[in-house]
Amino acid sequence: MIKINSAEILCVGTELLLGDIVNTDAAFISRRLAALGINQYFQSTVGDNPERLSEALRLALDRSDLVIMTGGLGPTYDDLTKETAARLMRRELKLHEESLARIHARLDRRGIEMTENNKKQAYLPEGAVVFKNNYGTAPGMAIEDEERGKIAILLPGPPRECEPMFEEEVEPYLKKFSSHILYSRNIHIFGMGESKVEDTLRDIMTTSLNPTVAPYAKSGEVLLRVTAGGSSEDECKILCDEMIEKIKLTPVGEFIYGIDIGTLEDALVSELTAKGLKIASAESCTGGYVAKRITNVSGSSGVLDGSIVTYANEVKERFVNVSRETLTKFGAVSHETAIEMARGVRELFGSDIGVSTTGIAGPTGGTPEKPVGTVFVGISTNKYEDVRELHVGNGLADREYVRYISASNAIEMALRAAKKLS
Ligand code: ATP
Ligand code: MG
Repeated sequence: MIKINSAEILCVGTELLLGDIVNTDAAFISRRLAALGINQYFQSTVGDNPERLSEALRLALDRSDLVIMTGGLGPTYDDLTKETAARLMRRELKLHEESLARIHARLDRRGIEMTENNKKQAYLPEGAVVFKNNYGTAPGMAIEDEERGKIAILLPGPPRECEPMFEEEVEPYLKKFSSHILYSRNIHIFGMGESKVEDTLRDIMTTSLNPTVAPYAKSGEVLLRVTAGGSSEDECKILCDEMIEKIKLTPVGEFIYGIDIGTLEDALVSELTAKGLKIASAESCTGGYVAKRITNVSGSSGVLDGSIVTYANEVKERFVNVSRETLTKFGAVSHETAIEMARGVRELFGSDIGVSTTGIAGPTGGTPEKPVGTVFVGISTNKYEDVRELHVGNGLADREYVRYISASNAIEMALRAAKKLS
C-alpha cells in the first residue's frame, strides 16, 4: 500500500498564470488536505503547455507522494493534462465504458449530441481509479504508481465540478491510505469575546498538542474547535471529550451554549423540543428578527407559539400589556418595559417562555443616557424573570449589527431559561 506523507497541488491553466481567474481550486483543496491531516509542502501553477506541464509533474512526483492536479480535463485540444500525465506515468489511454455511458446519459438529458471531443473524455489511463463527475462530463482519476509509491490525482478545473468531486469521491479514496484519523468537536460560546476566551484558555491552547484547541470568531460568537488525531475514532473521541470537560471547568464554561450544535437558534429549538416547552416573542428594535431566526430552524413550529412586533408604544400597551405608567416613567427602552413585554407576550400566547427586545438600533435616536446600541432583552417564565442590558458596539455599531446581536442575546437568554425549566 502506498504511504502518503506529503502532497502537493499542481494547477493547470494559462488563464491562472495571466491572472484572469483566481485559483480557488488550490485554496479549496488545501483546506481539505489540512482537515485530512495530509501535509502539503508545495503548490504550483503551470500553463496549458505539454512540455512545461510534463516538467512540472515530473518535479512534483519526485518530491511528493501525492500530486493533485486540476484543470485541463475538458474536451478541447488545449486540454492535455490527462494525456501528459499518462505519458509520464507510462499508461495507455483506454476507453472506459462506464464513463462513456455516463457522458452519453448526461448529454442526452440535455439534448446535446455526442461529439468525438466528448468521447475523448472517456479515454482514461489504464488501471486508473475513476472519480465520477456528477456536475460535468470529465471524470476525475487517480493514477497509482505502486513501484515508486506515487499517486497523481487529476480533477476538472471548474470549481463546481472540482469541489464536489473532491468531497464525494477523492476524500473517501484518500482515507484508505491513512491509518491516522482526525476527529473534531466544536464548542459554541456566546457572551465572552474571542480575546477573553483566548486569554482564559492560553495555557491549554499553547500546551495541548493532541487534541489541539483553536478559536474561530463569528459575529458575536466564538467557536472553539477541538481536534484530536489517533488511530481510531473512539480514541480521538475520548481525547476530545476530556478536553471539553476541562474547558467546561474554566470561566469559559459558563458561556458554552452547546457542543456541535450549529447555531444559537438550533440549540434553542432542540432544548425546547426536548423539554416540550413553548416560546413567544414581543419584539421592538429587532422587528421580528428573533422569530425569524427561530423559524429558520426546521421543527420550530413545535416550539414557537408566535411573535408580535410591538413597535409603537400604543401597541406595546394594547397587545402585550405594558402599562402606560411604565412607558411614561421609564420610557420604551427600559428594563421595566422589557420585563412587561416579555410577561405580556407570554400571557398573550399562553407560552412557557416570553422573550422581548426593546432598544435603540440607530443610527439616529440615541441620547447621552441611552446611546445607540442600548438594548434591553427581557425574559419571563412562570418561575423567574430577568433582563439583560446591552450596549452593543459602544455606540459605534451599525443598525444591522445591533439588531443581530440583540436577537442573539434574546435567543441565548431563552435557551438559558429553557435549560432551567423542566
Ligand atoms: P472544461 O471541461 O470546462 O474545459 P477543464 O477541466 O478542462 O474543464 P480548464 O479548461 O482548465 O478545466 O478550466 C475551465 C474553467 O474552470 C476555467 O475557465 C475556470 O473558470 C475554471 N478553473 C480552472 N482551473 C481553476 C482553478 N484552479 N481555480 C478556479 N477555477 C478554475
Ligand atoms: Mg478546458
